[in-house]
Formats: sequence, C-alpha cells, structure tokens
Amino acid sequence: MGSTRNKEVLIDLLQREGNNVCADCRDEEPEWASCNLGIFLCQVCAGIHRGLGTDISRVKSTRLDNWDDDQVKRMAEIGNEVANSKYERFLPMFYKRPTKEDVDIVRQQFIKAKYQRLEFCNIDKQASYNSPTKEGHLLKKGKYKTKFQSRKFILTRQDNKIKYYNKESAKQPKEDIELDDLNAVFVPEKMGNPNGLQLTYLKDGTTRNLFVYHESAQEIVSWYTAIRAAKFERRKVAFPDREDSELAKDLTTNFYCEGYLHKMGPNNEPYKKRWFTLDRRKMSYLEEPMSPFPKGEVFIGHQDGGYSVDIGGPDVKSNQGFPFTQKTPERLYILCAESHDDRERWIMALKKIIDTPLTPQDTRLATYLSSKRKSSFKLKMN
Ligand SMILES: [Zn+2]
Repeated sequence: MGSTRNKEVLIDLLQREGNNVCADCRDEEPEWASCNLGIFLCQVCAGIHRGLGTDISRVKSTRLDNWDDDQVKRMAEIGNEVANSKYERFLPMFYKRPTKEDVDIVRQQFIKAKYQRLEFCNIDKQASYNSPTKEGHLLKKGKYKTKFQSRKFILTRQDNKIKYYNKESAKQPKEDIELDDLNAVFVPEKMGNPNGLQLTYLKDGTTRNLFVYHESAQEIVSWYTAIRAAKFERRKVAFPDREDSELAKDLTTNFYCEGYLHKMGPNNEPYKKRWFTLDRRKMSYLEEPMSPFPKGEVFIGHQDGGYSVDIGGPDVKSNQGFPFTQKTPERLYILCAESHDDRERWIMALKKIIDTPLTPQDTRLATYLSSKRKSSFKLKMN
C-alpha cells in the first residue's frame, strides 16, 4: 500500500467506536497513536507515552508521520477497545480515570500504572492502595506555618478514618478524620508542588484544609487512590443494591472553581480580597489560598430554594472590577472578579450547581453549615 492509502486507512480507523476517543483520557478526536500498543491517543497523553520510552510505547502522529503497511495493519488489528480490554482488565472502579480537566499528575500516574507497572492487568499489583490499611509518611504543611514536616499517616477502612500523628511514638493521633466528609484534590499550582494534595473535611463546625505531598508522584497518587478505595468500599456496604458505577461517582471531586475575588461586606463596606473555593456545594472564602480554615462558608443550593447568580450588583461602581451577585435565601453576596473571563468562569460554575437537584448528602451539608451560622450569630449577640 502507498503512504496516501495508509493515511486513508488510519483516518477510517479513527472513526471507529472506541478509536474516536483517546485510549487513556477519552478526550475526543485523537490524532496521535502508539504504533506498537495499537492505540489512538490525544496530544497530551501521547506526550506522556513518549516519556515511557520506546520499549513501552512508540508514538506517531496519524497526520504528520509516515506509516508503513505493517504498522497500519497492527493499528487495525488492535485499536483502543482491544488494547483496553487487556490493559484495563482489572482497572478498579474507584481508580480516578483522568479527563482533560485533571492536572498532570493524575494523567501521568494513570498512564504509568496502566502500561509501565501493568497495575490494571494484575490485582496483586494494587496492594498499595487497595488494602484494609495504609500507613506511611507524608509531608504536611504546619497549620499557621509555611514549613512542611514529615508526619505519619494511617488510613484504616474498618474505622473509616485517616489519622495523622505529630510524634512518631504518639499513641493519640493529632487529628482523626472521617472519610465520609473528606475530599482530596490535587492542587499543584496553589501549593507550588507538582505532587501537592489538599485534604478538606468538616471538623468541629468548620472546614479544615490540610496540605500534603510526597516526593514520589506514585506514592501521593497511591494515598489519593487509597482514600477513594476506602470510600468506595464503605458505600458498597451501605448501599448493596446500587450499581458499582453509581457508587464510584464523586468519591473525590475537583474544585469547581478557585481564585481571588473581592467581596463586599454585609454592610456594604469596601471590597476585601479573599481566596474563594467552590467545593461541590460549598463556597468558602479564605484569607490566603492555603489558610487552614475559611473565614466563611456558604451553602449553594438549588434554584427552587431561592438561590441564583447574576451579573452586576447594587451600588457597585464601574471601576470596581467585574461584579456579580450570588443570592441565597438569607442574603446577597456581592463579589467582584478581576477580569471578564474570570467572572464568566465563576458564574458558569455557580449556575451549574444551582441547576443541579439536591442529593441527601447535600441536605446534610446545608444543615451543617446553617446550624453553624446560627451558633456564630448567637455568639456575636452575646
Ligand atoms: Zn488523552
């Protein structure tokens, strides 16, 4: 076959079910391939495959490179579905499959686990995250310090907890964290560390943020996956009738939106610059991006409950940035983004939540946050 004919065959193969999305992140219209693995890939995943070395994966462009007959034949014989039935045969339901929204570490470690360590071909290779307990050391940021220190962490499925210890010999943990209320999110940019992981949970009436990392990307992803695995196992016991795919949803959730906004005070005092995080239905504002506790937290409910978001705000001068107003049944939050695009990003994220019906867990969070508000109000009244 000529090279033009080979290109045509490749274009045809790319239209087929399974090949029309990246074999790894499922992004649409892949234009790259691994000619020995016989799979089609998006540009970003192809870049990671290149880093695996040609012993494991030989990357080619379907458009720019020349293909010989044997290579094209191999692509036709294998393809994404056949390859994934091998390399993802034992991919656990709780494992985070990367999407184009995920940060580098999630994508890189998925690809390394899949093709280099062959973790999803053999269940025995999953012990570091799929075991009743996990113990090890993570570097943890001090509560009000910038320094990170090594701390012992233990995750125990039976207790449904993750604990950490300030002293190696300590019998009592410094903190013991219920896994049900825990979210884990990779925040490399915010922490200035490619392996940076934020753990956020509810404790004593407020959200607590912990910032940890491990020198090894594989190990920090192993902790992240162990948390997801433990939460998944617990849901399986609690809801034996539900489908695994249902139970695996939102074991951890990336933040819907994060960044600086200027916030008008309750009595219209001037804007204060705060770091805002939208974590599912919880919008927190913090003094600094890595503050251990938020200054305030707002539950964002469904539109039927009196929640809405709109461009603009009362009494906002045109030189004060890009205002928008988040309405809750109790009050208006008048916020200002620093750019037009930033405001769009926030409004889109908030609208999406306001349009989504509440789940029982959401209602639990709403009660938690509102009871907290009442108690702090009482405190002020005294
Ligand atoms: Zn991809």
